[in-house]
Amino acid sequence: MSNTIQFKGYALTGKYPRKWSDLQVLSYQPKTFQPDDVEIAITHCGVCGSDVHTLTQGWGKSKLPLVVGHEIVGKVVRVGDNVKDIKAGDRVGVGAQIGSCMHCKSCESDYENYCPKGIPTYNGEYPDGVISQGGYSTAIRAHQQFVFPIPHEIESRHAASMMCAGLTVYSPLKTHGAGPGKKVGVVGIGGLGHYAVLWAKAMGAEVYAFTHDSSKMDDIKKMGADHIDFHKPLSRALDLIISTRDVFDQNMSLDTYLSMLFVHGKFVTVGLPDANNVLPETHAFSFVPSGCFLGGSAIGSKKECLEMLDLARSKKIKPWIEEMPMCDVKKALEGVKQNKVRYRYILTQDIENK
Ligand SMILES: [Zn+2]
Ligand SMILES: [Zn+2]
Repeated sequence: MSNTIQFKGYALTGKYPRKWSDLQVLSYQPKTFQPDDVEIAITHCGVCGSDVHTLTQGWGKSKLPLVVGHEIVGKVVRVGDNVKDIKAGDRVGVGAQIGSCMHCKSCESDYENYCPKGIPTYNGEYPDGVISQGGYSTAIRAHQQFVFPIPHEIESRHAASMMCAGLTVYSPLKTHGAGPGKKVGVVGIGGLGHYAVLWAKAMGAEVYAFTHDSSKMDDIKKMGADHIDFHKPLSRALDLIISTRDVFDQNMSLDTYLSMLFVHGKFVTVGLPDANNVLPETHAFSFVPSGCFLGGSAIGSKKECLEMLDLARSKKIKPWIEEMPMCDVKKALEGVKQNKVRYRYILTQDIENK
């Protein structure tokens, strides 16, 4: 059974794309199977804002034809000889990263997500020259370091979006000490932001949600946010702000957010806008008087992913999702672009595998 899987996915093709969201099912060549690899038959894949930025070429020219998707859950069908702790039949996930050098200082410090030679799950290039293809597809091969066992208590449809959206906000919350006695602000309540509210509450922090969308108000209360703010500035109140915004308009004052930070507070952006969308201007006066910091965070490590899954398991945390078959991918992508999603679309497998 192990060698019969056909690699096919919903791809943006190499012919000049008429429309970024018009995908068609194509067969493609997977990476060469290596002794550390796990081959996974995909059952679910979440739709991330990164997929939209990549398909619209907002982060630069993409390597077409390309299958995107990096919130993957499926069943293991084959493991290489070096693979430990994962076996055929296991339910596992893969997130936004699928490779790293394994021996630099970052990789050896459980910071493989910061490896300078990290390979993204799609639109990257493996050492054998094959372009990495994502999870709107039948199957994926991944090095065991980037394959995460899913606890039995978490359903696949719930685990999928934890692989990127969940982990991307879990990592900075953990790193910067979200917990009892801390006040955490979350800017932008979409796929990532809704996870930031859920995790920060589960970690015991007091949560301030910032949104411009009053229609999300009731949802955000149900997610557990303690305070919902639209524009009332909070002076020197917060220990940490996680910004999930991936569009910065020049009227959005970064200074307003920085002024909300308590001494040594941190503003951490996890959103990555298009290449031409720079951060709003600021001045040293916004940092020095409270000793605050401005920084960023890139997905998370395997260690953090396993911790996050354990938190979701033990606190029974479920994301807010909408499921649809993979053939509805166009609707999902456009829903993300137009901010219609509440709060993550999860595509379920429907490609005939023969
Ligand atoms: Zn993502
Ligand atoms: Zn490395």
